[in-house]
Amino acid sequence: KITVEGVDKTFPTKKGEVHVLDGVNLTVREGEFLAIVGPSGCGKSTLLNCMAGFERASGGSIQVDGEEVTRPDPKRVFVFQETGIFPWYSVWDNVGFGLGQMPFEAKDEHVMKYIRLVGLEGFERSFPSELSGGMKQRVEFARALAVEPDVLFLDEPFGALDAFTRIEMRREIVRIWEKTGKTCILVTHDVSEALELADRVAIMTRRPATVHSVLDVDMPRPRDSDDPPFREMKD
Ligand code: ATP
Ligand code: MG
Repeated sequence: KITVEGVDKTFPTKKGEVHVLDGVNLTVREGEFLAIVGPSGCGKSTLLNCMAGFERASGGSIQVDGEEVTRPDPKRVFVFQETGIFPWYSVWDNVGFGLGQMPFEAKDEHVMKYIRLVGLEGFERSFPSELSGGMKQRVEFARALAVEPDVLFLDEPFGALDAFTRIEMRREIVRIWEKTGKTCILVTHDVSEALELADRVAIMTRRPATVHSVLDVDMPRPRDSDDPPFREMKD
């Protein structure tokens, strides 16, 4: 469980300081899928960075299971808007990147498990330049999941994708989330995406931002099925 209480964040600037977060309150339950929506520039990434421990809040408190967040923790991983995989590493090496020293066989088994989970079996020796954008994003997910985090922070993870790949990746995330039972926090400015994927949606308002309200969503999720998202038209 993550609790955010009265969190303020200001950044120093040349002209003084900019007040970005203003008394944000939010609770994230264990295993839930929470989406955070709000207009561009309102402070969503800043809030997520504070929750993940990459930024220190200027005031208030952020706790994970009762412990104050002071720094990033390998049990809480981040998937960024732009894919951050290493172009000079193979898919296998990218997915195994965060695992550290392990006997090769154990590592191979572990890495392959996550490569399979995101549907990239057979591509483990490929390099990112040989993959499509959506496949690269899957590599990023596999790398994040391979460290077996408790919490997955997703900051506009579909940002760079076309509509086709977006739909595919949404399904992928729901499938992974259902399979692993991780707590997922997704930042998006796409409200329909939030409603489609999340259990609850937190709505942030403009700077200085606060969480304005939290909606309980009761909508069917896009299911993983054998059907491709788009079927060929036959006449
Ligand atoms: P988007 O949807 O476009 O990604 P966002 O809601 O994620 O936007 P943030 O990236 O959190 O917005 O930024 C909120 C505001 O905080 C920005 O408008 C910017 O002015 C300010 N800000 C963010 N990071 C810094 C920083 N390191 N230094 C100064 N100001 C910053
Ligand atoms: Mg952002």
